[in-house]
Amino acid sequence: MAAQLLDGKIMSAELEKALKAKVEALKERGITPGLTVILVGDDPASQTYVGNKEKACIRLGIHSETLRMPESTEQSALEAAIEKANADPSVHGILVQLPLPKHLNSDHALSLILPEKDVDGFHDINIGRLTRGEDCVVACTPKGALYMLQKAGIEIAGKEAVVIGRSNIVGKPMALLLLQENATVTVCHSRTKDLAEHTRRADILVAAIGRPKFVTADMVKEGAVVIDVGINRVDGKLCGDVDFDAVKEKAAYITPVPGGVGKMTIAMLMDNTVAAAEKAADKA
Ligand code: NDP
Repeated sequence: MAAQLLDGKIMSAELEKALKAKVEALKERGITPGLTVILVGDDPASQTYVGNKEKACIRLGIHSETLRMPESTEQSALEAAIEKANADPSVHGILVQLPLPKHLNSDHALSLILPEKDVDGFHDINIGRLTRGEDCVVACTPKGALYMLQKAGIEIAGKEAVVIGRSNIVGKPMALLLLQENATVTVCHSRTKDLAEHTRRADILVAAIGRPKFVTADMVKEGAVVIDVGINRVDGKLCGDVDFDAVKEKAAYITPVPGGVGKMTIAMLMDNTVAAAEKAADKA
């Protein structure tokens, strides 16, 4: 059986259409959603990600500004840029592109972003609220992965969900979201013993590891839903953490790379920015 594709291109295009209508409605109220992206240094992958975010803003009519700061930027200058964007009412979302150069303290910088403008969902307050199951800004990648499951009508409650990876930006928030949806969640990592024993139990398997084609068909249960978060470059070509060609023959649903979760990450950034602008508008 070949798996059904969870297509990030189609799902993100549909979501963008709905978001565009929301942006237009906000503009009628005199508000243009605004996103400030802070990019320090010239990491090529970061440049590409930021470029994709700028393009998405243009498609949706969101005002975006990218502050490109040199590699040598000092912590005080980075923090001053964040404070300036915090104080600017036309800025509804602030994103500091990670990773920052090694000499900078990203945790401290991120903690300065106002939680309501933290469209990446990395602020301690948003993470704390997510942990408590309260309304908050949710990190874009796990939010996008959950959206794909829900949009495809995949039942989550009561299912065995296994997340490989426990990073603060993907694995942990993904596990919390699945828990909130009443899955029984197992989180695996590099110290997990007999990983395949866990993954083979999974009705929903999320791979967020950063190793090309790491999840092989023998690690996957027949009929499982496989969400591949990984983005790896092998011989100049993108591939995920899942051995797509083999696993698609066993899974019921699978996300491709590219064209899967990555597309949803950007769409969710737009969603978080529009939602932040709507909240600000309602408060005014
Ligand atoms: P991290 O490197 O921060 O985390 C990787 C996780 O994988 C760690 O928890 C690590 O365990 C675990 N791991 C590593 N090796 C193994 C192993 N052999 N067995 C089991 N677990 C293992 O990565 P991120 O979470 O930031 O990203 C993961 C992947 O997702 C990357 O490919 C990244 O490029 C991609 N990504 C994609 C996005 C998108 O938009 N689609 C957005 C963000 C990331 P331990 O904690 O023990 O070290």
